[in-house]
Amino acid sequence: VIEIRDLHKSFGNLEVLKGVDMTAPRGHVIALIGSSGSGKSTLLRCANLLEDSQQGEILFEGEPIRWRGEGAGRHPADRAQVTRIRTNLSMVFQQFNLWSHMSILQNVMEAPVTVLGRDKAEVEAAARGYLDKVGIGDKCEAWPAQLSGGQQQRAAIARALCMEPRALLFDEPTSALDPELEQEVIKVIKDLATEGRTMIIVTHDMRLAADVADHVVFLHLGKIEEEGPPEAVFGNPQTERLQQFLSHGA
Ligand code: ATP
Ligand code: MG
Repeated sequence: VIEIRDLHKSFGNLEVLKGVDMTAPRGHVIALIGSSGSGKSTLLRCANLLEDSQQGEILFEGEPIRWRGEGAGRHPADRAQVTRIRTNLSMVFQQFNLWSHMSILQNVMEAPVTVLGRDKAEVEAAARGYLDKVGIGDKCEAWPAQLSGGQQQRAAIARALCMEPRALLFDEPTSALDPELEQEVIKVIKDLATEGRTMIIVTHDMRLAADVADHVVFLHLGKIEEEGPPEAVFGNPQTERLQQFLSHGA
């Protein structure tokens, strides 16, 4: 679904991604791990074009992003293409980012109706279905502030699903949650993996990565230091840096 080739990204003089290759084939779950500041969030944001990058290619379903300009002056050339890609790669953030002035149901319905222009009644039926699926079908009329963190994050996942995206991108979806609430969200993510959803998950939770990922990517200082199936990455790390990272309890 997504393919990234030799991606370079700088913030001013700070080079954050130094030639990264990453592929998320259809139906696969990729876990992205690495120390704080290694560039995980930046890579995810570049993948769905929330950030520009200066060099390298991004392909969505085999279709390369078209750029205008070069280096620091490089921007996507085609707004319609950007919208198509962004709506097909739904992001779930650490801080949920629900709209506080909308009910949970409205939160889930908003983008499919306003961005995709889909029929309101159909979207409402789908939204209720996704809220049921993540176990909060009884919270449709509630405000975000009335929900626990775990419930808010599950609402954010329902909102992402309601876009019917080709892939889901998670950035530390459980980091803001207490351990008990974390489990509710992990269960939803595991169910999505079982369904064969394409996902990229940035996480500090090595058990979650080991449980759901087909492929684990270890990012270190903006480069992929090591990658492979979870059994290899966690069971038999090759590089000293990954060994260190894993032994420090991430
Ligand atoms: P964490 O595990 O703490 O979330 P991360 O791996 O997601 O870390 P990034 O957020 O991708 O790391 O940040 C990588 C580097 O880029 C850091 O040095 C960070 O300070 C820098 N950075 C990120 N966003 C910006 C920005 N908008 N402007 C300037 N520098 C930034
Ligand atoms: Mg991050």
